[in-house]
Amino acid sequence: MPWQANYSSKIIFGSQAVKESSNLLEDIGKNALIVIGQGGSARKNGALHDVCELLQNASITWDIFDQVEANPSIDTVRAGARLAQANKSDFIIGIGGGSPLDAAKAIAILAVNELDNDALLNLQFKNVLPVIAIPTTAGTGSEVTPYAILTFPLMETKKNIASPKITPRLAILDPAYTCDLPFRVTVDTAVDAYSHALESYLAVRSTPLSELYAREALRILGKQLEMLTKIKKLDMDQREALLYGSMLGGMAISTTGTSIPHAMGYYLTFFKGITHGRANGMIMPAYMDFNLRRSNHPKVKEALILSGFQNLEQFADLMTDLCGQAPVCNEAEKDKFITQTLQAKNLVNNIVSPAQEDLVWMLEHMLS
Ligand code: NAP
Ligand code: FE
Repeated sequence: MPWQANYSSKIIFGSQAVKESSNLLEDIGKNALIVIGQGGSARKNGALHDVCELLQNASITWDIFDQVEANPSIDTVRAGARLAQANKSDFIIGIGGGSPLDAAKAIAILAVNELDNDALLNLQFKNVLPVIAIPTTAGTGSEVTPYAILTFPLMETKKNIASPKITPRLAILDPAYTCDLPFRVTVDTAVDAYSHALESYLAVRSTPLSELYAREALRILGKQLEMLTKIKKLDMDQREALLYGSMLGGMAISTTGTSIPHAMGYYLTFFKGITHGRANGMIMPAYMDFNLRRSNHPKVKEALILSGFQNLEQFADLMTDLCGQAPVCNEAEKDKFITQTLQAKNLVNNIVSPAQEDLVWMLEHMLS
């Protein structure tokens, strides 16, 4: 069967990458909306300063929307879109972790399309504003993906808006912006990046090209995760490796999407307040145990070996070391967990499709 690839981002990677992008802004627009997180990290790590300098030199005007919370809600995105409309922004620049980047992508849709939540999730839009993405965490790969993951409080979960139209036109990655990431955020986001590589490698939708990205990401990130159990302070080479690995993971899932850990993790984030990457890390040992028991495909073992693990026990110990034990769930919570997870479209994207009893098994495994 023929396979397809759809990579539309131009990527600039390395030290001073924003300055190096000055000649790439010419055709993108004249009035930007910059989208950043509400904690103000983009102001502290220098990324916002560098971007504003770049825009000023290019005679581009800008406004700043600085209200994006972790796991951004649709309401926050709508507020950002209203600002973009009021200011007649003609392109959007997201700076930050996956939350501001995803919010920027969704604002790019809603700034030029009047859509209710159903219409948005059903992708009933033709045009979107161009997006530039500048990651300051090394985890989601959102700077190169066609996804925006938003929290819909009334649906009590997170939902993925997936469209190649929101893949950032330009991704600018400078590891220097990630240097002051708190250690906890560094670990959680690195685990998210690793989970992208792993889920992509074992995805039904994997292709020879996505496997190439996933294998390299597994190799780089497996080594870095091991290192994160030993040290607390990272040097620039390690920051660069994490950012590169995270971008590769993003390239891999751009084709394949994610699968079981992401589908199950949304519950832990929404109801238990566990960060996205850490939630995936709590689930991955049960997920790999399930895969090893239920699939004879050589890729399952290969994924562990490529990442530098001799066996499942080593993998599970490392994940527990980095992400800790899953929270206690009562019977009603477990029922809700399973019901919610069964609705996720990406469940069937794993090398073995899980039945309801398999999800229950993985949940009990994770809680044990
Ligand atoms: P995040 O929610 O964007 O940020 C987490 C925390 O880190 C925030 O407090 C943020 O502060 C802070 N932070 C960010 N950069 C920093 C820096 N350089 N120095 C210090 N603090 C910094 O975390 P994330 O894990 O990157 O993103 C998670 C979101 O991405 C989730 O909603 C997840 O579902 C989504 N995701 C998207 C994709 C995709 O393909 N689109 C893939 C996987 C996950 P501020 O408030 O200042 O920003
Ligand atoms: Fe993720």
